[in-house]
Amino acid sequence: MAVVPPHRFAGPSDLHMHSNQSDGTETPAEVVRQAHAHGVRTLALTDHDRTTGWDEAAKATAALGMTFIPGMELSAKHEWRSVHVLGYLFDPLDEAIAAETDRIRGDRIGRAERIVRSIGRDYDLDWDDVLAQTTLDATVGRPHIADALVARGIVRDRTEAFDGILHPREGYYEPHYAPDPLTAVRLITDAGGVAIIAHPVTTGRDRMMPVSFIERLIDAGLGGFEIDHRENTASGKKTLHAIAARHDLIVTGSSDYHGAGKPNRPGENTTSDEMVARLIDRASGSEPRYP
Ligand code: AMP
Ligand code: FE
Ligand code: FE
Ligand code: ZN
Repeated sequence: MAVVPPHRFAGPSDLHMHSNQSDGTETPAEVVRQAHAHGVRTLALTDHDRTTGWDEAAKATAALGMTFIPGMELSAKHEWRSVHVLGYLFDPLDEAIAAETDRIRGDRIGRAERIVRSIGRDYDLDWDDVLAQTTLDATVGRPHIADALVARGIVRDRTEAFDGILHPREGYYEPHYAPDPLTAVRLITDAGGVAIIAHPVTTGRDRMMPVSFIERLIDAGLGGFEIDHRENTASGKKTLHAIAARHDLIVTGSSDYHGAGKPNRPGENTTSDEMVARLIDRASGSEPRYP
């Protein structure tokens, strides 16, 4: 009989948070302190396409008696849809995943420069404005361009930037390279991690992937869905719960905290202890860091 290790993490668990290693506004240690202040006791740092915040976050959680779950939000793309795949407890030294995230981050830089050049034809904005808003080496995205627009006094906050200038309808938007979701799920799974689709049914953004395609992701090793997320629609959540029940998948809830970059607060959605335990049991690529 398999011996199931006792789980030493303590809830409430918030498994989706961003630092300034991608498009959050706070250092990994500050994200951890904010989470703790909001009652979170198990935390996953999930910067876009980057794992460089793990060590600092793990030190900060240890100091506060919290549990750290290493994670990342891997950019993917299905047809025109941007799809975000959360990867947990994978091996950060896995060569395939490192090569793919290098490629995505590299392409994001050229893409952001093109967007800024295009905006710069109509507004007083240049690449230096964006660099001034970006922590060295962070995964660059539209949020940094939004911060530059705020600093220039062109918009009030990120929300206004995303609703206006950065919205694809305004004509400045450009996509960046991202792998197919099947590749993303396989990369995470092959590196010993658990793949969970982030906010699969948001309004105002791209529609949900077809169920038939989601079932192909499940066949490829998908672990589950992030269902309790403020941007998932009520009807979409129902659909996801039905699919998850049918395939016995993991379901998570998280804040998607970005510091001052979004209204989302730490712990506004949480993942049940049962589901955190399943996540830990399923993974083999890296270990949770207990205090
Ligand atoms: P990008 O990957 O560069 O296209 O930028 C997408 C990122 O922008 C996502 O990861 C979100 O965190 C962020 N984002 C999207 N919409 C908004 C919004 N309305 N306000 C603030 N941040 C947003
Ligand atoms: Fe983000
Ligand atoms: Fe996301
Ligand atoms: Zn996110």
